[in-house]
Amino acid sequence: MDTRPFLIVAIDGGAASGKSSTARALSARFNLLHVDTGSFYRAVTAVLLRRGVAAHDPARIEAEVGGLRLGTRITGRSAGMEINGEVIPDAEIRGAAVNGAVSHVAALPAVRAALLAYQRGQEGVARAGGFRGLVMEGRDIGSVIFPGAACRFFLHADPAERARRRALEGGQDAIALRDQLDSSRKAAPLACPPGAVAVDTTHQGLDEVVALLSGIIAGQLGE
Ligand code: C5P
Repeated sequence: MDTRPFLIVAIDGGAASGKSSTARALSARFNLLHVDTGSFYRAVTAVLLRRGVAAHDPARIEAEVGGLRLGTRITGRSAGMEINGEVIPDAEIRGAAVNGAVSHVAALPAVRAALLAYQRGQEGVARAGGFRGLVMEGRDIGSVIFPGAACRFFLHADPAERARRRALEGGQDAIALRDQLDSSRKAAPLACPPGAVAVDTTHQGLDEVVALLSGIIAGQLGE
């Protein structure tokens, strides 16, 4: 049996700051469950849009969100959200409609409250799956979801560089607008939490960022 401590790594940052690629690499390197909480807000938003609920209709969103049955399906090393038994396809959650609506949905305290326990519950999912820990990425992981995480990072990069990266991935995404909405909202705004390690990825390649974070994590694990 693995008696080493269960490790929680929190990675926060704006859109296209490098969180997902970094989290995936750390997940592989340290056998951590990769949990992309942005995909959770996206999946909930996609289901609301399917039901014809407008992103600016808080009363209906609140009513619908409480009734969603949330589960988790692990694929490889990644946790995917099931809503009423379905994993919403990637093309749908990363499409233009969801890009345009997700930050409005995510700003609602009722939505954040509905996802809070679910996100914390990923620790149990990771333990049950035999992972050594989890790496969770989002906007409020180190501040709200796991403020006591052993390793907390905040990635940022110049807006022009982030726009360039997102354009390379294809798709339509007003990342500056999402960041502005995410940073200015009252509930769990995007910000570097006190005590987190801030990393500017503008002029660093993925390998360099992963090496930097890996060094800190390995130090934490006493490796
Ligand atoms: O990470 P990603 O860009 O896919 O996240 C999509 C949106 O979900 C963000 O712009 C933000 O509005 C919301 N989000 C959030 N809190 C998180 C993760 C994502 O509000 N922890």
